[in-house]
Amino acid sequence: MAQARESLIVVSNRLPFSFERDRRGAWQSERGSGGLVSALTPVLRDRGGTWIGWPGTAQSNGLAQAVKTAAAGSGYALEPVMLTEAEVRDFYRGFSNEVVWPLFHDLTPLCNFDPAYWRAYGAVNRKFAAIVRSAVSGHDFIWVHDYHLLTLASELRTGGVRSRVGFFLHIPFPPLDIFMQLPWREQLLHALLDYDLLGFQTPRDRRNFVHCVRTLVRGATVQGKGPVVTAQVGDREVRIGSFPISIDYRSFASGADTPQVSAKVRDLRAHLPHRKLIFGVDRLDYTKGIPHRLRAFENALDRYPELRERMSLIQVVVPSRAGIPEYGDLKTEIEQIVGRINGRFAKPGGWVPVWYVFGSLERADLLAYYRAADAALVTPLKDGMNLVAKEYCACSVDENCVLILSEFAGAAAELRSGALLVNPNDIEGVADAIHNMVTMHAAERRIRMRRLRRIIRERDVFWWVDSFLRAAITKDLSAFPAPEKSVPAPVSEFLPL
Ligand code: UDP
Repeated sequence: MAQARESLIVVSNRLPFSFERDRRGAWQSERGSGGLVSALTPVLRDRGGTWIGWPGTAQSNGLAQAVKTAAAGSGYALEPVMLTEAEVRDFYRGFSNEVVWPLFHDLTPLCNFDPAYWRAYGAVNRKFAAIVRSAVSGHDFIWVHDYHLLTLASELRTGGVRSRVGFFLHIPFPPLDIFMQLPWREQLLHALLDYDLLGFQTPRDRRNFVHCVRTLVRGATVQGKGPVVTAQVGDREVRIGSFPISIDYRSFASGADTPQVSAKVRDLRAHLPHRKLIFGVDRLDYTKGIPHRLRAFENALDRYPELRERMSLIQVVVPSRAGIPEYGDLKTEIEQIVGRINGRFAKPGGWVPVWYVFGSLERADLLAYYRAADAALVTPLKDGMNLVAKEYCACSVDENCVLILSEFAGAAAELRSGALLVNPNDIEGVADAIHNMVTMHAAERRIRMRRLRRIIRERDVFWWVDSFLRAAITKDLSAFPAPEKSVPAPVSEFLPL
């Protein structure tokens, strides 16, 4: 008898479509533009599959039909999980974004360990599990994404689901002493071990997780050396690997080279001539280190007066997670620092040191900023990966610019050989990197950027999907290929004497 074809069930907090009512009250849908959606869509179409998630709105009137229409055009099924306003408050804004998010980014003082949040988190993961149960059949592979759904596998197992379930954590996993602060640390760890494959962004995140398992889970053993190791917990075997997520490199590189984007780049440069352009773009989030970065820029202007009128910082801040108090305070702080810097250094009618934009950008504008900028300042205090760093390099088709990157971004694990690595807390160190970037020899810029672009091109988001799914299905893990370990020669060796 022919075996039923295994299809893929993707589960994430949000569906890959956003839904909004138009002026006449009719639902309109728009497909998400991120790399995850572009990478998973071909797999879902090819194998047949379903994407399960919250449609992003508590209003359900007429929404089911809008979801069906969006699914019809996408080539795979969509299953909405409807959340009440109280669930959005306690599960999404509460446990996910006031407990897991700050804790996993090493910012324990920002955590609000409210027990009501933990209960809501369990209840909503159960709600997701009920929808997954009704969509899955025995041979399917379930791929769960991110920190909102840490306990989903455990709810599925309780509900009798025996299919294989993989999980990818898009944010960092904290070190043991930070994870220990969580009142529900054992429950959460045991729930994670109900997955068959756990994927982390970097080897460091994976090591942190393995350390927590070895310390807090009695009788657990972890074996193996490659990028994927195996934990034995009772009679269960759990694979644990690191798989750095990436971007659709080709779509960024070719998008940045279109006539429309090239014209925008020329315009931008014409408005800001004879000046190094430094670009930063981040969601409004305290993990992104925006105030620290602005202080570093100010410090560079103070300590290196020759840089005044020779460089401008364009800082775009994209609105995010309205309703969480810390985020509103952060916006005020950023705007005060921008005001102070411009008040101190701007020349009336002439040079403005910081161009600040609060809002989201059209794709063509984002690509134009990436391509026009002489440097990107990507200095999060801690970040799972940071796709902006990779997108910037992909769009730098002229290969004549510099990536200044926080050593605490997951991307630093792959990009350390080409970026200028900085500690975002070290204001003078970041200021020195800005000075170094301005004075860097063109040949060094080119070597560094070429190297970065090669790494990102070779391991794009399609590579990432493929490695995760292979780690889930490969029988013999010793055959699983280790990621290429290239130790490039120092940049100085390539420079003209
Ligand atoms: N981005 C966006 N709207 C904008 C500017 C940027 O959607 O106006 C995108 C950007 O292209 C990138 C993502 O937001 O893909 C940010 O991803 P990253 O990993 O850097 O940080 P996150 O926001 O996920 O923490």
